[in-house]
Amino acid sequence: TDADIAAGRRAYELDRAHVFHSWQAQGPFTPMTVLKAEGSLVWDGEGRRLIDLSCQLVNTNIGHQHPKVVAAIQEQAGKLCTIAPQHVNDARSEAARLIAGLVPGDLNHVFFTNGGADAVEHAIRMARLHTGRKKVFSAYRSYHGGTHLAVNVTGDPRRFANDDGDSGVVHFLPAYTYRSYFGATTQDEESERALRHLTDMIELEGAGNVAAVVLESIPGTAGIYLPPDGYMEGVRELTRRHGIMLIADEVMAGFGRTGKWFAVDHWDVIPDLLAFAKGVNSGYVPLGGVALSDAVFETFRDRPYPGGLTYSGHPLACAAAVATINAMRDESMVENAERLGREVIGPALRAMAGRHPSVGEVRGTGCFWAVELVRNRETREPLAAYGGSSPEMNQVVAALKSGGVLPFANFNRIHVVPALNIDDALLREGLAVLDSALDVADGFVEA
Ligand code: PLP
Repeated sequence: TDADIAAGRRAYELDRAHVFHSWQAQGPFTPMTVLKAEGSLVWDGEGRRLIDLSCQLVNTNIGHQHPKVVAAIQEQAGKLCTIAPQHVNDARSEAARLIAGLVPGDLNHVFFTNGGADAVEHAIRMARLHTGRKKVFSAYRSYHGGTHLAVNVTGDPRRFANDDGDSGVVHFLPAYTYRSYFGATTQDEESERALRHLTDMIELEGAGNVAAVVLESIPGTAGIYLPPDGYMEGVRELTRRHGIMLIADEVMAGFGRTGKWFAVDHWDVIPDLLAFAKGVNSGYVPLGGVALSDAVFETFRDRPYPGGLTYSGHPLACAAAVATINAMRDESMVENAERLGREVIGPALRAMAGRHPSVGEVRGTGCFWAVELVRNRETREPLAAYGGSSPEMNQVVAALKSGGVLPFANFNRIHVVPALNIDDALLREGLAVLDSALDVADGFVEA
């Protein structure tokens, strides 16, 4: 209504006057106002309908305003909004039971945090105390969070301004076949060479000094580049051999996103610690956590764990997690995500790759896909350089928005990351808009 639009404009003015935004130069920033969101639809400040193919920051895995989760939060709010972390709370106990039952192996214990970055930080703290070692290995082309240690673990330009020479983090080159750092031309070659590189780096840094290897099971923001066959198993074998903890960062890839409950479930790999957030409750209330193995747990049986948060296991967040996980199960959303990837998104994107010379590669699984845009298919020169945007990419994103799609874009990529329960027809409508937007990208391909 006109009143909603007027209220949105007022909110925009107040935002620009008083709200300080993440990652932005505050001056030129022109955020979008959202008046309303429901399922896989959002309405902008002028009341225009957009199909949400971003899931915001890839977190609303069950879509917006799922009625069962909204009701569970309301019910919990009526009962008990908050309680200190040292007390037992039924919502927290049940959330921990459900999560421990879903994660692989003997990751039977859950430490709750407020989000993903602190989950990664606590996983590292646990690994360091468990092993008595300091160094942490993580991949370039990764994202692990915005807090001090998490951003230093991150292998993305967002780290540069926050670099701390004393964080104990060593970065290694990832297995990324499309832009192989190892001159590989096949998946097998990439897997073997990337594993050799990591093996060498661990040896050269002193395996006995390495507490953990932190890896996104499938890297998300950095490009949804799936590890080649054998790579994750190889990393698991390598870390086990040296008594190094394997920390799987499942903050973005977890909770059904990839068509399995966790991305590590695609391989025969059980990490020592697993960090989660986002999809655990679709982000309706901030929540993250670490699932830890029995062995890591034993380190803290008789020795206090030196860490905590006022809101660890917050009842509203945990009630939302319980309702989210139950809704995902009752409505077979993980199976549906797998089907959407196999029957709808994958075929549609591959067809677009066939038609549009600007598409360098499409890749993904479940509801987790990336379209990599290039100026030249031979040289694979990206449509925006690593670490930045470009006027050309901005035009592609603008075409998506004006066509009625809310996209997730990073550097030269458009990610197709819809809710696991998006309606098939709506998804196809959104993919058709992407198809048209790629015509704009084709215009920048070198003749
Ligand atoms: N790890 C991964 C893989 C992520 O994608 C993110 C956020 O995008 C984080 C960690 C950080 O999570 P948060 O923003 O909740 O701190």
